Amino acid sequence: MSSRGVEIVVVGAGIAGCAAAIAAARENKKVVLIEKSDCIGGNATNSNVGTICGLYYRTFSETPEQVGYSFSKEFISKMIARSETKAPIHYHKGLFIYSYEWSILQNILEEELKSNGIEVMRASEIIKIERENRQIKGLVIKTKEETIEIKPQTIIDCSGNGIVSQLGNLEMISSGSYQSASQIFRVENVLSANEFSLNMAVKKAMIQLVDLHKWPQSFKSLSLVPASLKNNHADFKITLPEKVTDNKEANDALAAKAKAYVQEIFPPLSKMVESLKSADIKTIFPQLGIRIQQRSRGKYILSETDVLSCNKFADGVAEGAWPIEEWHEDGKITMEYFEPDDAYMIPAGCLISDEMDNLYFAGKNISATTKAIGSARVMGTCLQTGYAAGKLATCSSAEEKETMIAVLRKELLHSNE
Ligand SMILES: Cc1cc2nc3c(=O)[nH]c(=O)nc-3n(C[C@H](O)[C@H](O)[C@H](O)COP(=O)(O)OP(=O)(O)OC[C@H]3O[C@@H](n4cnc5c(N)ncnc54)[C@H](O)[C@@H]3O)c2cc1C
Repeated sequence: MSSRGVEIVVVGAGIAGCAAAIAAARENKKVVLIEKSDCIGGNATNSNVGTICGLYYRTFSETPEQVGYSFSKEFISKMIARSETKAPIHYHKGLFIYSYEWSILQNILEEELKSNGIEVMRASEIIKIERENRQIKGLVIKTKEETIEIKPQTIIDCSGNGIVSQLGNLEMISSGSYQSASQIFRVENVLSANEFSLNMAVKKAMIQLVDLHKWPQSFKSLSLVPASLKNNHADFKITLPEKVTDNKEANDALAAKAKAYVQEIFPPLSKMVESLKSADIKTIFPQLGIRIQQRSRGKYILSETDVLSCNKFADGVAEGAWPIEEWHEDGKITMEYFEPDDAYMIPAGCLISDEMDNLYFAGKNISATTKAIGSARVMGTCLQTGYAAGKLATCSSAEEKETMIAVLRKELLHSNE
């Protein structure tokens, strides 16, 4: 097995992993980004979740203010320059979202990784880690051609499920079962140009079809991804009735089932909804949308109370602005809001391993309770934790880390609390 040394390894090229890799590379570190699928972007592209949440404060004023770092602003400006969507849209109850096209996002991520000199290993999966005391010494990676070993100085785990901690037998934050998963699919040849009426017609039809076909109740929540109806195509989201667990085989089986569900429900639905009469399924997005799984344990565990009380921390390095959002097995969604025009902070301790001195976390793999991650998992927040983890991972001493935390705090757009 070949072996080589690398300064920083980022595991997982979702939105958080890409942000972490870019932030670390901008500090002149040699970064290798390892991704198990063929394509980068994770849920953001391979599941096509369609909107970026958590970029703006919830507000009842007309123009929402962005939270977090100018890094997120820079990123969104690039999206706006290439997209039809030029501004955030009001979602509901003062929440604003940015609607994006997955291929534009993926192109921007690819370009940023390239221009920052980041080596991306695709179709490469971490399968084993080697530990020594409080250090991770090696990562064994299975690529399409071979199995290799990388000896990293520092690792940032952005796998979405704490894979490095799992393989290293480190303590995890797990609740056994999690929010329902959703499968997103794109339909072409849609005849309606009105999103509201299409959504209503689909909902009405699904209520009848669920009873008629004895489908699971969660299918009644089939809905349009906001702002996805354009150029005669639209994206739909179906919520699965089965529980998501930490069992990989069970989740793989769920992903196959989700695709079969879409094939089953769409033909009768298209017959019932006038504007879907000529419509066909164009794409069933390859990655099942699993919202939450087990996470790594850091020096601090962000709690539901921290989120709902908009807690501020002296070492806060990211700002969360999205409510706690939970998707249930019956298709219902609950939202727990905090005050408008405010945000909670995510302390650096949520991004730093408690047990390993060279391990960091970002994205939906930060150290947070299952409730708290229901808020911090959204993409606007993942961009920030990715950026902060990427910067923190470049520090080689406790003093450097303290200085970096102070720098990051100042960089936050609203750091005066
Ligand atoms: C159905 C659904 C709808 C959502 N809707 C929205 C929304 O509208 N707006 C919003 O802002 N957020 C939404 N979210 C949340 C958001 O999309 C995700 O939480 C966020 O994109 C997660 O980013 P991440 O980088 O942390 O993880 P991921 O996107 O999951 O990326 C992790 C990456 O790690 C890779 N990986 C895993 N294991 C390994 C391994 N062993 N070796 C190498 N690579 C590995 C994976 O292949 C993946 O590419 C939604 C999520 C879901 C599931």
